[in-house]
Parts: sequence; structure tokens; C-alpha cells
Amino acid sequence: VQRGEIIAVGSELLERRLETNSLFLADELGALGVEVRFKSVVGDDEADIVAALRTASRRADVVVLTGGLGPTADDCTRQAVARATGKRLRRLPEAVEGMVRRLAAWGRTPTPAQFRQGLIPAGADVLANPVGSAPGFCLRWHGCLIAALPGVPAEAEQMCITALAPKILAYAPAHGRGERIERRLLHTFGISESDLDLRLKEVGIAEAGLRLGLQASPLGVTIALTACGRRSHSIDPARQRQADPAHRLELAVQLVKKEIGTYIYAAGNETMELVVGRQLAARGLTLAVAESCTGGLIGHRLTQIPGSSAYLDRVAVCYSNRAKRDWLGVPAPLIRRVGAVSAEVATAMAGGIRRKSRVSIGLSVTGIAGPDGGTPQKPVGLVYVGLNAKSGRRSREASLTKEFRFHGTREMIKLRASQAALNLLRQWLLKTGGS
Ligand code: ATP
Ligand code: MG
Repeated sequence: VQRGEIIAVGSELLERRLETNSLFLADELGALGVEVRFKSVVGDDEADIVAALRTASRRADVVVLTGGLGPTADDCTRQAVARATGKRLRRLPEAVEGMVRRLAAWGRTPTPAQFRQGLIPAGADVLANPVGSAPGFCLRWHGCLIAALPGVPAEAEQMCITALAPKILAYAPAHGRGERIERRLLHTFGISESDLDLRLKEVGIAEAGLRLGLQASPLGVTIALTACGRRSHSIDPARQRQADPAHRLELAVQLVKKEIGTYIYAAGNETMELVVGRQLAARGLTLAVAESCTGGLIGHRLTQIPGSSAYLDRVAVCYSNRAKRDWLGVPAPLIRRVGAVSAEVATAMAGGIRRKSRVSIGLSVTGIAGPDGGTPQKPVGLVYVGLNAKSGRRSREASLTKEFRFHGTREMIKLRASQAALNLLRQWLLKTGGS
């Protein structure tokens, strides 16, 4: 596996803006057999970029810079790469061809500053930018492949895939001998990081030569399984398969699923709202949500999925007791007797929203997000989720409620509560789906 390094350039990344390009770059590089070992953030300062690049190119096979390729005075990545590698900047008309053509289509010609984007270190290849104006470039220098991509995230990602990846693959035989890094992500909810760690020890992931990583967030714990390797050149197909990292990962995923499968709600880039939406759409069911402590977060998450109008009917944020009464028909005496944060009220909210909106499923959340408002009997983080379903006039009404005790900040508790509600719905759909 080749050693990779990422240098993100931009003064705003040092203080005002979160550096995120390295995340998808590391992912793309990994798929190409380049393991990112270091990353750094540098301001728009030529000398600092030169210093970072010199350090990086000494220890890495592939260095990817992003940012600082634009036409403005503070953009100095091209000058820095030229200086660090001792190359002169040359004007390459082909570098700005795409930009000239695009501008001409709008009846405009490039400004002198924009033309400066055609300056490329001598000996470097142009990386075409199909999305924006600044082209990138890459060059080999002392056994290292140095590439510069623009800072705009969409441009950097697109160019990494279309323009840089082929260069890295062409360069690989000399260094990485075609090795690859494969990764699978499995997202869990409802099991703690330490319990997962214990249960997965049984699976023998390290023994299989795979790397296991656990990342906890309010939405649950993500299991990252990584395998390095290359296809075996053995003529025995069984041997070949055994060596193949994708195949070894697939085996490990099956073992993990066998051990803790009930906690896994999604894989890869998929989210809980996507998975739930897909199940609802596949079964032609409709949903209405009544939210108290999550304040519309569940509705927001569900509507993030394109096409959610096929199954989401409405979302009511019923924050006050009056709203729970007026909009959901939760009886006032019930609230007085057991309190708004209770299993009984969650049940009544779910049934109320389902009947009022005449959908197949009603989902509800009520809880105490904190930081104030907790009591010894009802502490901050106490959350009830309710579900009420009736899919046809003849079918029976089903109702369930679940209690959760979360910890963390107000925002974390809201996130966890939204995840718990969607997960309860997911599990119910699985149980009743039959398919
Ligand atoms: P251009 O000026 O042609 O758009 P550029 O290479 O000069 O290209 P920048 O000006 O450095 O790009 O950045 C453009 C935008 O992308 C800015 O909003 C910046 O904050 C953002 N950006 C740059 N680098 C990163 C990064 N590593 N992670 C997240 N956002 C970034
Ligand atoms: Mg910049």
C-alpha cells in the first residue's frame, strides 16, 4: 500500500471553516491503494505551503493538495509547488481551454487573473476541471506523485475521481503493485461502543487480518472494517478469492451480522431515514409524526430523502400540553395524571396523529431534552417513543411504546431521540413486513 498525505490550503480552514475535503479524498485514495497517513492544514502563505509540501513529499508516495488554485491574490498553491519542486511556472493554453470555452458560451472572456490559472509547473500534467474554472495539475517529483486540486469541495471530489484517479493508478505499479484498501461501514443503534467491542472480539476480525474501528456519535456506533491487499496471482481460484480484500471483508461482514445483526440499521452511506423511507415506500404505507421534544427533527430528517412525499403525510410539532390536546386529542386528565413525558401520553400521541391524519402509521416522541426540567423520577434524557398502526379498515390496531434514557447535551438528546423513534419504526416494519 502506498503512503498518502493530504495538505489542505486556505486561511479560513485554520479558524472559520471546517476542513472536510480530506475526508472524501482519503476515501477515494484508499480505494486506489493509497493509505492516508498524515494530513495538514496550511494558511494561504507560500512559504508555509512550501514547508508542508517538502515534509510531506519526503515521507509519502502521493501528496494531494487542495485549495489555493483560484485566480485571487491569496491563492498561491501553484507558486508554492513550483518553488518546492524547483520547477518554473509555464503557461499551458490547454489548462485554461475549458474555462475559455465555458466563458465564451456566456459571451465573456477570461480576465488576466483568470488566465493566471493556466500557469502550471513545468513537467506537470493538467487535471481538467469539468465543474469549475481552476484546473488542477500533477507531477512526479523524487518518487512522489504531487497533485493539486481546487478547494471547492464539489470540484475537488469530482476531479479526484475523474482526473486524478487514473494518474494514481498509472503510477501505482512502480510503488504499490496494485494493492487496494477496501472498507465497509456498518451503522448500529442501541448498543454501546464497549459492548460492541466485547461482542466483536468473538468474531476474530484481527485474526483474519482485518482492521476494526468503532466511531460513536449520537446516531449510534459505526463499525468500520478495513482490509488491505491485492489479488493473488495464484492460478487456483480459491486462493485468489481468499487473498482478495473485498472477499475477506465480505466474510467478516457476514460474521459481524451473525453476531450483532439486530443492531445494524444501515451500511455504507445509507442513513436511518433512507432505510425507513425505503421500507415504507416498498410497502405502500403512509406515516404521520407527532413530535414534542425533538421539535421537528424527525420531520426534517425524513424530508431530507427525495421522494419522501410518497409516504410522509404530515409532521406535527406539539410542544405544549395544549397542542397535544388540540391537535392530537390527548385527554387533558391523562396529561395531568401521568405527565406529558410518559409512556401513556406517547401512546396517545401516536394514536391521535394517526387517526387525525388517516394514515397507516403514527409515530410520536415525548421527552426531556434538558439541561433543565429533570426530576429524580423523570431525569433529563428520559424519552418515550410511541407507534400506532392500522393498515386497513379491517386490520387490527397495533400500538407499542418504548422508554429510553439518553445522556448528553440538549442537541445530542434530540438527535438520539429522533434516531430511537425512526429505529422503532424500522424494527416494527421489519417485524410486520413478512418479506
Ligand atoms: P477557486 O478560487 O477557483 O474557487 P480555490 O482552489 O482557490 O478555487 P478556495 O478559494 O481555496 O478554492 O476555496 C473555495 C471554497 O471552498 C471556500 O468556500 C473554501 O472555504 C472551501 N474549501 C476550500 N478548501 C476546503 C477544505 N479542505 N474543506 C472544506 N472546504 C474547503
Ligand atoms: Mg482559498
